[in-house]
Amino acid sequence: MCPSKMSSSRKPRSLNNLAIAGSVWIASDIHLGPHVPATARVFYQFLDEACANADALILCGDIFDAWIGDDVARVSPPDWLAEVLDRLRQVSACIPLWLGRGNRDFLLGKSFADAVGARMLPDVVCLETDAGRVLLSHGDEYCTDDVGYQRFRRLVRNPVIQSVFLKLGLGLRRRIAQMARQRSTASNQNKLKHIMDVSPSAIEQAFRATGVVNMVHGHTHRPAIHTLEIDGHTRQRFVLPDWDHDHSAAPRGGWLVINGSGLHLHQTTSPEQPPSPEQS
Ligand code: MN
Repeated sequence: MCPSKMSSSRKPRSLNNLAIAGSVWIASDIHLGPHVPATARVFYQFLDEACANADALILCGDIFDAWIGDDVARVSPPDWLAEVLDRLRQVSACIPLWLGRGNRDFLLGKSFADAVGARMLPDVVCLETDAGRVLLSHGDEYCTDDVGYQRFRRLVRNPVIQSVFLKLGLGLRRRIAQMARQRSTASNQNKLKHIMDVSPSAIEQAFRATGVVNMVHGHTHRPAIHTLEIDGHTRQRFVLPDWDHDHSAAPRGGWLVINGSGLHLHQTTSPEQPPSPEQS
């Protein structure tokens, strides 16, 4: 049993500000589901490490590869999901746990958070940390060049549409989600790579509007630390990696640590095996 570290986190001052002292660990885009048992195992090791070393853990979106409603977790969850619930409960018993919504699990709600002892994060939040103010989000809101996706995002985040969808039976919800996924995969294949990345102007606007020096997001699966000059000030944008230990030739994952000495990106990406001379 981990010692309680609840005292290290204070209540948010307003909806979009959250003060967390100490070592804050952040991960996103784990894409958990029944199809990624190896990724889940590595993720659970990460949760144990976070319990032992962090003062708070934030999972900022696409924790799940798909999410069709919190009732799936409430009413007889499948084994893989029951284990996720257990593991997240173990974390929240040990350190404060925050969950954000991504573009895959945008239907994640308060009842899920309550069930695992976590709290939901607003879509964009300004963290007040030992390293100063950090702007945190999933990241899809900055992909403004992808007009089709932004239209879809507005639609599925509409509370009326969400409540209608959540009243449908589980089977129908699954079929609709599957169809939406297939359409998105097909349309992404025809999109230019830069269209699906964040828009530089949306990023600049976010830095200017908030005045922060550091921004953190996931979503794009392009882990990096970008340094920008905006209005004569140096700013940094930290992009979190996605996780895949099941279907990739180069298993990958990682997280960000924020503490008094700054922001530190930890990537567990192993380099892709170069082809042997016979193959090339
Ligand atoms: Mn995403």
